[in-house]
Amino acid sequence: MKVIRSVKEMQNTMLEQKRSGKSIGFVPTMGYLHEGHLTLIKQARRENDIVAVSIFVNPLQFGANEDLSTYPRNFERDSQLAEESGADYLFCPEASEMYPRPLAVKVTVEDRTDVLCGRSRPGHFDGVAAVLLKLFNIVIPNFAYFGMKDAQQVAVIDMLITDYNIPVTLKTVETVRESDGLAKSSRNVYLQPNEREEAVILNKSLNEAREGIINGERDPEKVLSFMKERIEQNSSGTIDYIELYSYPELKPVKEIKGTIIIALAVKFTKARLIDNTIISI
Ligand code: AMP
Repeated sequence: MKVIRSVKEMQNTMLEQKRSGKSIGFVPTMGYLHEGHLTLIKQARRENDIVAVSIFVNPLQFGANEDLSTYPRNFERDSQLAEESGADYLFCPEASEMYPRPLAVKVTVEDRTDVLCGRSRPGHFDGVAAVLLKLFNIVIPNFAYFGMKDAQQVAVIDMLITDYNIPVTLKTVETVRESDGLAKSSRNVYLQPNEREEAVILNKSLNEAREGIINGERDPEKVLSFMKERIEQNSSGTIDYIELYSYPELKPVKEIKGTIIIALAVKFTKARLIDNTIISI
């Protein structure tokens, strides 16, 4: 596996691979890799000639009071795991390499961002869209791999690719979980031991809601108030949001039908966790 830190070198290397007829699978990450990331890398390995992984903690997608400076990092471990999972190239630029000056041409995501993380993290998806537009132009992938743990991100990237005719195919991977159901996340290391135990209720309440819907519940309000109570009674975390929308449009629904998402964010002392479930009925 080759580690590349320069934008120009990465772009030239990928162009060369493309010219020689190789298909490129791309997995963008912010590092501190876990089994979720590795599942994306392994799928890219199975489906492409060349696998490129990026590690870049993108300052543009963090708000002023968010965890940019404390976001966990471990380059040595990450590069070993990426290589073992089948990466050929690891692209890890410095922020100054990606943004030598403030962007003069900004991307604004107008749809699917007035809810969930888009509402509680203003500007977050503009930052995600901007960095992905850059990364897609640098890596020039045929396929790009994203996790459904960030389902709103997938809904936004889908629009970005369509609106700007980016020649990349989006591939999604189901959320990878710990054995007790907690969604794997780089931020889980910041949970205190009691919070780690309590955090199980996030996925549990999503599963209970799913079961209720499969058994005939159709009222979004009832599902959400049930979940709110379950989480409040079983964790010390503060609920940022629990919401239910159509998916991928992310529009409110009066009655549960078609494909819907239930998504939540809960703030613990040093980590804000998200999780979701998508149900088609
Ligand atoms: P991040 O490093 O958090 O930006 O994540 C990089 C990619 O890995 C994104 O596409 C995430 O959705 C995906 N990802 C993160 N956690 C998981 C997980 N537990 N299961 C599946 N994919 C994940």
